[in-house]
Amino acid sequence: MTDRYAVFGHPIAHSKSPLIHAAFSRQTEQDMTYEAILAPTDGFADSVAAFIAAGGRGANVTVPFKEQAFALANRLSPRAEHAGAVNTLAFDADGIFGDNTDGAGLVADLVRNLRCPLAGKRILLVGAGGAARGVIGPLLDQQPAALVIANRTVSRAQELAEQFGHGIRACGFDGLDAPFDLVINATAASLAGELPPLSPRLFTADTLAYDMMYGRDTPFLAFARTHGSATADGLGMLVEQAAEAFYLWRGVRPDTAPVIASLRAA
Ligand code: NDP
Repeated sequence: MTDRYAVFGHPIAHSKSPLIHAAFSRQTEQDMTYEAILAPTDGFADSVAAFIAAGGRGANVTVPFKEQAFALANRLSPRAEHAGAVNTLAFDADGIFGDNTDGAGLVADLVRNLRCPLAGKRILLVGAGGAARGVIGPLLDQQPAALVIANRTVSRAQELAEQFGHGIRACGFDGLDAPFDLVINATAASLAGELPPLSPRLFTADTLAYDMMYGRDTPFLAFARTHGSATADGLGMLVEQAAEAFYLWRGVRPDTAPVIASLRAA
C-alpha cells in the first residue's frame, strides 16, 4: 500500500514541501504520497489523529504548530528536546516520534551547499523565536569561536543563551558593532518587508549574510550586499530540512542539489 505523508500548517497553501517531497520520492523511487493539510488553529492534535487513523506514516509541521507537535509526541529526538519544537513526526506502533530537522537543514546548507565551514567562526544569530531556537544546538555542534544571539526583545535572547550555555552572548540590536563571519537572520522581519536595525559595521566583504526567509530578496540581504557581504536565502535550508525528514521516514538520502536548482529556477 502507498505510504501517506503530509505537512500540517495554518496557512499551508504556500508550502513548497509537497513539491520537494514529490521530487525526492520520484528520485529515490519510493511508493508514497505527500499532501498539504490545513489544520484549524485550535484543532492540530485532532487533525493529526485523523491522519494517523487514515493510514498516515509521518508528517512535517510548520507555523504555528511546532510547539504543539512537541507536546503531542510521546518520544523525542535529543535535538527536538533541545529545540523545544518539532517539525517532523513519524507514526508507528509505539506512538508518535518527534524530531526537529531545521538546524540540521541550516547547517547542511551552510557547510555543504554554500561551502561555509562554521568551526572557529564568529556567528551572529538575529532573532529568538522558534526558528532561532531550533538551530542553536546544531550550530554549537560545529564549534564556532563565538555565537551571539541578538533580538528585539532582549529577554528572549537571554533565555536562549541561559538555556543553551556554551558562553553564548545575548543582546539587543544596539549592543553590536564588530564584524561577524556569518550573520543569520532568523527573525520574521523579512516576512513584513522590514529590516532589523543592525549596525553596518557587522558586515564586511568576508561576511556571509543568511536570511532564513526564501522566495524573494529581502531588505536584510540587500543591506548586507550594500556593505560588500555575500548573501544567501533560506531555500537551501528548506530543502535540506526536508531531506533530513525524508531520511528519517524512508531511510534513504535524496540528492538535494537538483531539487534546490529546480525550485530556484521556478
Ligand atoms: P517566530 O514568530 O517564532 O519568531 C519571530 C522572531 O522575529 C522573534 O525573534 C521576533 O522578535 C522577531 N521579529 C519579528 N518581527 C521583527 C521585526 N520587525 N524586527 C526585528 N525582529 C522581529 O518566527 P519563526 O522563528 O518561526 O520564523 C522566523 C523566520 O524564519 C520566518 O521568516 C520563517 O519563514 C523562517 N523560517 C525558515 C525556515 C527554512 O527552512 N528556510 C524554517 C523555519 C523558519 P521578538 O522576540 O522581539 O518578538
